Amino acid sequence: MALKDIKCFVLDMDGTIYLGNQLFDYTKEFLATAEQCGIDIWYYTNNSSKNAKFYINKLKKMGIVCEERKMLISNQVIIKHLLEHHQKSRVYVAGTQYLIDDFEEAGINVTDTDCDVVVMGFDTTLTYEKLVKACDFVRYGATLYGVNMDYNCPTETGFIPDCGSICQLVYASTGVSAEFFGKPSKHTADFIFEKTGYDKKSLAIVGDRVYTDIALGAYNGFTSILVLSGESSLEDVKNSDAKPDLIYASLKEISEDLKKIYKL
Ligand SMILES: [Mg+2]
Repeated sequence: MALKDIKCFVLDMDGTIYLGNQLFDYTKEFLATAEQCGIDIWYYTNNSSKNAKFYINKLKKMGIVCEERKMLISNQVIIKHLLEHHQKSRVYVAGTQYLIDDFEEAGINVTDTDCDVVVMGFDTTLTYEKLVKACDFVRYGATLYGVNMDYNCPTETGFIPDCGSICQLVYASTGVSAEFFGKPSKHTADFIFEKTGYDKKSLAIVGDRVYTDIALGAYNGFTSILVLSGESSLEDVKNSDAKPDLIYASLKEISEDLKKIYKL
């Protein structure tokens, strides 16, 4: 798929538009160029230790205005699934207060007794007690869900264990593998198309990580654009079965191409 056919970019955030708390110096220029070209911008993050409100605020502090509906997060995808398939369930959530707030706002029955669904988030407040509870419910037959499959989260001081690693621990103890909902799952692809209203020919995911961002497009039949400003390198592309349709050094080079295509 060519850049000229894209009408909507769904942007990953960390490593794509900023690194930690530092907005890339070309991001605003990229956003302005996309707007001039009439290309819609949405955001999607796998980071289930926070919620959409947190990220809208974070962008606001960086001088970027994002409408509430255009900030998508893995939390929303699993919530949709629970509302559709587990309406009467008692749900145990090993997650941060941000995640629990999202679940409670959506009307999900979050509790810690007799649970038939266990949800593991990227829980930066995880305790041994929470792990024991989660594993106990799973051992007694509860369905095990993980919000996002990332093994590590990059920070300014290096990697920290993310939801995928926490679920591996539950697997080691119970023998049960979690089903995941964030990128690159079909749940997330379906959610993005439903929310944005674009089709597979006109939407592209733009991100810095091969096994989540690029795999989302590659596994679900739509365009993925890798930027090399974050985690993944060309070496990672070589070693991955999920291949990006386009590779750019950063968003800066995408805006340069857009300016040529749209003759700006
Ligand atoms: Mg990223």
